[in-house]
Amino acid sequence: MLENFLLKNKIDFVMNKPLSTLTSMGVGGKAKWVVYPKSRSQLVLVVKFCRQINQKFYLLGGGTNVIACDKGFDGVVIATTKVSKTKRIFNTVLVDAGTPTAKLALNLQKWGLGGGEFCCCIPGTVGGAVVGNAGCFGKSFSDLVQKVWIFDGQKVKVLTNAQCLFDYRTSIFQFENWTLLKIQLKFAPKSKKRIKEEMQSLKVYKARSQPTMCRSSGCIFRNGSQPSAKLIDKALLKGYRINKAQVSVVHAGFIVNLGGAKASDVLDLITHVKTVVKEKYGVTLKEEVRILK
Ligand SMILES: Cc1cc2nc3c(=O)[nH]c(=O)nc-3n(C[C@H](O)[C@H](O)[C@H](O)COP(=O)(O)OP(=O)(O)OC[C@H]3O[C@@H](n4cnc5c(N)ncnc54)[C@H](O)[C@@H]3O)c2cc1C
Repeated sequence: MLENFLLKNKIDFVMNKPLSTLTSMGVGGKAKWVVYPKSRSQLVLVVKFCRQINQKFYLLGGGTNVIACDKGFDGVVIATTKVSKTKRIFNTVLVDAGTPTAKLALNLQKWGLGGGEFCCCIPGTVGGAVVGNAGCFGKSFSDLVQKVWIFDGQKVKVLTNAQCLFDYRTSIFQFENWTLLKIQLKFAPKSKKRIKEEMQSLKVYKARSQPTMCRSSGCIFRNGSQPSAKLIDKALLKGYRINKAQVSVVHAGFIVNLGGAKASDVLDLITHVKTVVKEKYGVTLKEEVRILK
């Protein structure tokens, strides 16, 4: 039924694709279906159809904040990365949810729009970044978002920034079963040269302080009253390994796949880190990453 629908609507798909190839951690079994809508209307169409036929589905952006389980996903992964139109209107930019943040950063340089320099340091898509209110260097997506177009299963709605209920690494989208379609972001005019220089220095800083060349999902845990990386470091867990999954020696908040790790190694390591930190400091670390199962 799904196959006929996808063929009829000319929506690209593949079957039995390893999730390790779709996520930055590089672990996980196969997804039964991976569907690649090419436009917002195709994205809505697929989501609507999956809901209609009661088909389990998962929206995936760049997969940089998702760890896929070894058993894979017996449903439809809807990959948004081909839904990536971008349009500038004066100081605002309209981006489709699947637009890579790297592409947004390049456009900001090209257009001389400042205020979003930090985007160059956040992998993944704009949609994923809005869901998690991603940020660094004291800024986050909530500082940029004006409006978000979503599909709630019935119709397309527009939310204002206030309606997105942004907070530290969270938003309303983590609690609702909605599909982000398009985002309107606001910037301020700035010299192209300065934007480029600032982005370059942020990237250099990031490359020095984080394992940016290794497979990872970024920071595994949210920060509480104390940064999670500091607690993990103090607990002497830097470099601790379970098979090929390791607490990064560069930044204790990251778990890196040294090559050939299984999802179970990563998940066991997460459990171990949480247990040790709880035992030593009485702090319950909360995951920032999402588990796809
Ligand atoms: C090396 C590295 C460095 C990182 N540095 C940072 C950092 O500095 N700051 C930071 O905040 N994060 C950081 N991250 C984490 C990650 O890059 C961000 O959380 C990023 O914004 C996730 O975007 P994504 O497109 O990859 O989302 P995904 O990982 O694909 O998805 C994340 C969540 O969003 C949902 N989602 C994605 N698209 C949609 C959509 N269109 N509609 C509805 N739901 C959707 C998914 O279902 C999932 O629940 C880093 C990651 C890595 C690997």
